Amino acid sequence: MQRVFRFYSDDLFIRATSVISTPVVKAMCEVQNTGPLATMALGRAVTGAVLMAAQLRDHQVVGLHFRGNGPLGSVYAEASYEGECRGWVDQPDAQVPLKDGRIDVAAGLGIGLLNVIRSQPFEKAPHIGTVELISSEIGDDIAYYLQQSHQIPSVTALGVILTPNGDVQVAGGVLIELMPGATEAVISALEESVASAKSLSSLLSEGRSPEELLKNYTGPIKMNQVEHPFEIKYSCRCSIDRVERSITMLGRDEVQKIVDDGVDAKVRCEFCGRTYVLEMTKLLEILAGFSQMN
Ligand SMILES: [Zn+2]
Repeated sequence: MQRVFRFYSDDLFIRATSVISTPVVKAMCEVQNTGPLATMALGRAVTGAVLMAAQLRDHQVVGLHFRGNGPLGSVYAEASYEGECRGWVDQPDAQVPLKDGRIDVAAGLGIGLLNVIRSQPFEKAPHIGTVELISSEIGDDIAYYLQQSHQIPSVTALGVILTPNGDVQVAGGVLIELMPGATEAVISALEESVASAKSLSSLLSEGRSPEELLKNYTGPIKMNQVEHPFEIKYSCRCSIDRVERSITMLGRDEVQKIVDDGVDAKVRCEFCGRTYVLEMTKLLEILAGFSQMN
């Protein structure tokens, strides 16, 4: 079972999450039919979302919307505290030239904005924070958001390693946050061990565990693991009820138009690709609902 590992230092000034996210990244990229560039971008984004969501509370969801002007278009990933995640990319088959022999996610995403959307059940409007993309490499952009919006310095390391034919070999990441009030001693101890850390990709390639990924950055600092028993899984919360609600929200005139066309309405969920069919009887029922409201 894949899950997020959560840790705190003894003094609680350092909190961290780490994960091996290979199965969810694979599942998501299969559904979205991504090429290598989109796989890297979406894989990093969803790994970041999973790491952030595990630090929220029950049923809260974090969405990361990278809105660049590059060939990928927008990249969106979200995850819940309970480890359910999903995502999409505008242009799953986008390509850019390699940079030093590597897939160039920054060029794929281009310049633009990162919206971080935090929502919880029973809350009407989600909380949205926005920052510029400072590197368009995903991880650094999340770190910049945490610094700008929450004044939290962090180490945000996200990695996706591809096989030679472009499939996901391994994906994972680490998020280490320095909480407000940390003393100089804590800060310099963390800086020192981060400075001597190996690259995340080399650890991922070696098949290391989430604990080992964390240890790579925290070194001799004692980190205590906290229970976080949720399996991370690719799953979509779409349902026929939600589709009906979204059709209803189009308003009477739009629904009338669909009815006038005389064919069942097909609605495709952009997250999971599932197609829902609203039959004419249902559409007429929705339309009748509008009349009753007047
Ligand atoms: Zn769906």
